[in-house]
Amino acid sequence: MPTFEYAPAPESRAVVDLQSSYGLFINGEFVDGSGTGFKSISPATEEVLAEVSEATDADVDAAVRAARTAYTRVWSRMSGTDRGKYLYRIARILQERAREFAVLESLDNGKPIKESRDIDIPLAAAHFFYNAGWADKLEYASLGTNPRPHGVVGQIIPWNFPMLMLAWKIAPALATGNTVVLKPAETTPLTALLFAEVCQQADLPPGVVNIVTGAGPTGQAIVDHAGIDKLAFTGSTGVGKMIARAISGTRKKATLELGGKAANIVFDDAPIDQAVEGIVNGIFFNQGHVCCAGSRLLVQESIASEVESRLKRRLGTLRVGDPLDKNTDVGAINSRAQLDRIVALTDAGEGEGATRWDNGCELPSKGFWFRPTVFTGVTQTHRIAQEEIFGPVLSVLTFRTPQEAVAKANNTPYGLSAGIWTEKGSRILWMADQLKAGVVWANTFNQFDPTSPFGGYKESGYGREGGRHGLEPYVKTGA
Ligand code: NAP
Ligand code: MG
Repeated sequence: MPTFEYAPAPESRAVVDLQSSYGLFINGEFVDGSGTGFKSISPATEEVLAEVSEATDADVDAAVRAARTAYTRVWSRMSGTDRGKYLYRIARILQERAREFAVLESLDNGKPIKESRDIDIPLAAAHFFYNAGWADKLEYASLGTNPRPHGVVGQIIPWNFPMLMLAWKIAPALATGNTVVLKPAETTPLTALLFAEVCQQADLPPGVVNIVTGAGPTGQAIVDHAGIDKLAFTGSTGVGKMIARAISGTRKKATLELGGKAANIVFDDAPIDQAVEGIVNGIFFNQGHVCCAGSRLLVQESIASEVESRLKRRLGTLRVGDPLDKNTDVGAINSRAQLDRIVALTDAGEGEGATRWDNGCELPSKGFWFRPTVFTGVTQTHRIAQEEIFGPVLSVLTFRTPQEAVAKANNTPYGLSAGIWTEKGSRILWMADQLKAGVVWANTFNQFDPTSPFGGYKESGYGREGGRHGLEPYVKTGA
């Protein structure tokens, strides 16, 4: 329980000018989609926020054609310096309209305003600034000789970081001279549509960015379209595998950023209070809807009970509730479907014999909510140790030696990220070398920066986003 009550500190919704319905953004204009349309709701209240168009195969075709024309006539002919100016302009507008974006993101996604305000939106702007800087320097980025764009890029993103994933995708694609057809997730389309307005505001040439809303079939239409030269997908491993199968034997290139089941490894010499903060950040940040979340805590046996009790005490102070309240730590689960999945996996955890604990906090009566939950007594074969829960649920396992920690950490089909908590530098380096994970954090967790590459091993996908490496998939090189 909280040690004292907080007065409400709601962020104002008034900064957002929500329209009752939104079209598709094709060739620089909003147009009606030819599909049935769907509603985007606030997962915290189940209130309908807006009606959104559904893009059919024909609409996706129109978007791809617009992107092709913009590519051939304008964008591929423009100098890198001029492309960079557009990206800088977009970055500045995102900063100017940051509050509007943050409130809309929290409304549509359910994430706490302090996270959308301090992390999602500033980082999205930072990705545009960073990639703007590369636009006129691609020849010096060690990408190979004569780096040049693929053409039209199809991009499909998930709902957990809607604007940030959009920025990870669009900024490097435009910097390298490609044009884009992007599909946001069905449950979180609204900030992508606000971004379309930013493209208009920045006078971006029509067709350089096209936003098509819809669900899986709209994504499939992008994957299957013959006019797409390269695909960039972030989402589940299941859909990623389908995409890999769908494009095999075609000339299409792809990068896949998929799921994860990261180990956050705490040694007995770690500063325990800092480690506890890192564990909390690792799995309860963004309701645990994080592909690189530290969802498995591996704690050295000698300190396991102490870490467990300090962790539970800390979780008792987390404030769960209204995403627009500035004091909220944990917001709403993004959708009923995701909540059902979390419930099913946590029920399996109990069924298979792990011990369940939650912080007992009160939950709002409407919307989709799940209490911060910890499972102890977890073994490696439990589903909650193997499968991605993608929710505020931590599975705790123990180890005795560094070798055992490495073996357990690597014992998953995934390989996206890992965390190490220890005072010993040599152990950090040894562990980082042994862990099959694209990103390894030491004495911290969930740190993101546009200059740093991010991506996975094994079933977490292939390709890197961010940093100089993030440009590579968007260019071809050689004669
Ligand atoms: P998802 O179901 O795979 O959806 C991802 C995107 O693909 C959504 O836009 C989705 O549309 C679309 N989609 C669904 N079926 C499709 C199909 N047959 N063809 C083409 N597109 C299709 O994943 P999710 O549940 O939204 O996202 C959670 C997953 O994403 C987790 O596994 C998480 O680990 C992963 N993730 C990975 C990273 C990373 O960088 N590695 C980052 C964030 C999330 P609709 O949602 O509209 O149906
Ligand atoms: Mg929504």
